[in-house]
Amino acid sequence: MSAALRTPPRLAPDTLRVTPLGGLGDIGRNMAMLEVDGQILLIDCGVLFPEDDHPGVDLILPGFEVLADRLDDVVGLVLTHGHEDHIGAVPYLLRQRRDIPLIGSRLTLALVREKLREHRLRDTDYRTVEDGQRVTFGAFDLEFVAVNHSIPDALAVFVRTAAGTVLHTGDFKMDQLPLDGRITDLRAFARLGEEGVDLLMVDSTNAEVPGFTTPERDIAPALERVFARSTQRLIVACFASHVHRVQQVLDAAVKHGRKVVYVGRSMVRNMKVASDLGYLHVPGNTLIELKDIENHRPEDVVIISTGSQGEPLSALSRMANREHPVIDLERGDTVVLASSLIPGNENAVYRVINGLAKLGATVVHKGNAMVHVSGHASAGELLYCYNILRPRNVMPVHGEVRHLIANGALAEATGVPADRVVLAEDGTVVDLARGRARVVGQVDCSYIFVDGSTVGDVSETALTDRRILGEEGFISVVAVVNTRSGRLISGPDIHARGFHEDATVFDPVAGQITRALEDALGDGVTDAQRLQQVIRRTIGRWVNTSYRRRPMIVPTVVTV
Ligand SMILES: [Zn+2]
Ligand SMILES: [Zn+2]
Repeated sequence: MSAALRTPPRLAPDTLRVTPLGGLGDIGRNMAMLEVDGQILLIDCGVLFPEDDHPGVDLILPGFEVLADRLDDVVGLVLTHGHEDHIGAVPYLLRQRRDIPLIGSRLTLALVREKLREHRLRDTDYRTVEDGQRVTFGAFDLEFVAVNHSIPDALAVFVRTAAGTVLHTGDFKMDQLPLDGRITDLRAFARLGEEGVDLLMVDSTNAEVPGFTTPERDIAPALERVFARSTQRLIVACFASHVHRVQQVLDAAVKHGRKVVYVGRSMVRNMKVASDLGYLHVPGNTLIELKDIENHRPEDVVIISTGSQGEPLSALSRMANREHPVIDLERGDTVVLASSLIPGNENAVYRVINGLAKLGATVVHKGNAMVHVSGHASAGELLYCYNILRPRNVMPVHGEVRHLIANGALAEATGVPADRVVLAEDGTVVDLARGRARVVGQVDCSYIFVDGSTVGDVSETALTDRRILGEEGFISVVAVVNTRSGRLISGPDIHARGFHEDATVFDPVAGQITRALEDALGDGVTDAQRLQQVIRRTIGRWVNTSYRRRPMIVPTVVTV
């Protein structure tokens, strides 16, 4: 499905250009760019969380480098909802231009505000919108439509331009009985379908799942059973943005007389925002703080925690490793993972489940109880959408390749001609003119890595180094030599990380290093660099033959 990698032509008049900058091929770093008449509208700006093969990388950003010399043409950034894969990269974009108007619902912008505060970004231009509202940004006339998802206040956006219309669904499902009563506005979809949707950009996450996504409230019985059976400590891990999930746990806690404590920085922060804005209803005298947990018996408290994806530094992982400073799990405690398993996180999640099980905890997860339902529309719901909207062209977004293909097939099944289903990938440039979408080129949308506070400076070489460090460990060797006498004055001092805890394992090789250095010095080698090579070769050969390992070796020779 890869378009030939070619530079797109100049944008013709009366043409709307659509370029996905991320989220097609991965679940994450969602971003799309719409351009007409020299003006650019952006939709979403999320992050992708790295997998095991990107050690030390904190985040991966969408390909917004392509915007580098076009930032002044951006009229606004629409944020469909407050999930990290849609808002997480906003601070990195705003560092390049601070005053890009951020357009989104009340909750979405409140979550963005917290994020920008942490990044110390000020002077942000917030434009709060709500469903049903219509606003104009330059050449783009925007109308917002309520959609139902695993976070409140999510919006789809209908974009009208002189060159055509685009409906971007954002993430959505069609729960007909959602906890907050806010359903996906199919009446608006029908109206927009009548008006004419030239291009439908539609969530593909669950396109392979037949039927309909189970309503959120159907997890209540499973939660109820867990609460009824737990006689000790109870921990529920879920996404820190899943306000309705937290609401259900809160309600069950109140019913069973348990106090609630939030654990995890993002959980504490987001739930405060959600309850301040009225999206989360917390009965008085329910919440306690982690520092006060000692004052309550374990069976009187439920802990709502982050870490449901096995994130190594999260509270839950630390509990599983017995490394949590406050919470010590005991045999008979119950842990619920009320969350999905995002592809790529499997190993980490099962590591945590195994760690918890080993401690004797009962682990309830979506594999053994109905404690999670998806936030995304399944195939049945997508079919409804296509039939209601009758789009002229379709671009499946938000998914791995298999999800995009499955979603395209659904569109075709409802009668969208195959040549009107655009299976794009990140960076594919699509021009929409006179109701017809065509792939016209490809721009570079490779991963931009964020590593602590630096952006884009992590090279593949650095990643290779980290892979070696992570898998094979690290050995440093320091020696001080007198080049005149040809003798070792000090060392070799050998230190290792991630290789072997016991330093005495190096005793046999220390003598070999000393002899090899003195031999080299005897041969007239006095250059520190070459002496370092001698050390590297000697210890490298020894480690490889004795342990079959190839750690990173950093020799330092000081000559006097
Ligand atoms: Zn989402
Ligand atoms: Zn998403």
